[in-house]
Amino acid sequence: MPGPLKTLALALAVTTIVAACATATSPTGRQQYVGGVSQQELNQLGAQAFAQQKQQKPQTRDARQQREVQCIVSAVTRQLPAGWQGGWEVAVFQDNEPNAFALPGGKVGVNTGIFRVAQNQDQLAGVIAHEIGHVISRHHDERITRQMGAQGAVQLLGVLLGSRYGEGAGNAAMQGGSVLAQTGFLLPGSREQETEADVVGQQLMAEAGFDPRGAVALWTNMITASSGSRPPQWLSTHPNPESRIRELQQRAASLVPVYERARAAGRRPACG
Ligand SMILES: [Zn+2]
Repeated sequence: MPGPLKTLALALAVTTIVAACATATSPTGRQQYVGGVSQQELNQLGAQAFAQQKQQKPQTRDARQQREVQCIVSAVTRQLPAGWQGGWEVAVFQDNEPNAFALPGGKVGVNTGIFRVAQNQDQLAGVIAHEIGHVISRHHDERITRQMGAQGAVQLLGVLLGSRYGEGAGNAAMQGGSVLAQTGFLLPGSREQETEADVVGQQLMAEAGFDPRGAVALWTNMITASSGSRPPQWLSTHPNPESRIRELQQRAASLVPVYERARAAGRRPACG
C-alpha cells in the first residue's frame, strides 16, 4: 500500500478503535482511555491468566502464609467501592522471587518470596493494596485499550479470546504462557500508573486499619534486598525507588489520622 493510503487506513482503524473506547477519570483525577474491551471480557482475561499461573506454579502449603494473605486481601477489599468488594480469590505461589500481582475479576497472587521483604502485616498490606490499586484504577483496561490502538483490535482480541474463536489461536496463547504477556497484565505500568497505585493503595491500607508507614518500610526493604546480585523483579518493574519512598513517606504522614480513625472504629486486622 502506498504511504498516504497506509496512513489513511491506519487513521481509519485507529478512529474506529477510539470510537469504541471511552474516556474516564481515574481515582486521582487523571483522564484515561479505557473500554477497549468490556469489563466482562477483562474479568474473563483476568480469570484466564490466573488459572494459567495456578497451572504453572505450585502453591505454598504453609497455612500461616495463606491465612495472612487471605486476611489482608479481605480487610483491604472490604474498603473498596461497592461493586468491587466481593469474591476476591487469592493464591500464594511457591516462588522465591519477591513479587505480587492483582488482576481484574478479583484475583490476587503473591509469591512466598514476598515474606523475605515484608516483615509484618502492614508491610505486606502495602504490597497487596498497591496491586489492588492497579485493578480498581482500571490500569489493565487502560493498558489493553492502548495496546489495541497499536496492534489492531481484531488481531489482539483474536489472540486474547482465541480459545473462544478457534482452537489454534487459543492454544498458541496458552502454550506460550502468554495470555499475561499478550495483555500486558504483568508488565510494569507507566510511571503515572505506578504513582497512582501507590496513592490509591496507601489510602486503602490506611482505611483498612493497616499502618500506612508499612508501605515505606516495605519499599526500603525491597531496595535493601536489591543490593544483592539479582534485584527483585518487582523493583525493576517499579522505577525510581528513592523518589517513590520519599513520596510514600510524605503521604504516610498525612494518612496516619485516617489509619487511627480506622483503628478507633474497630478496623484492627490481626493477620500476621
Ligand atoms: Zn505497580
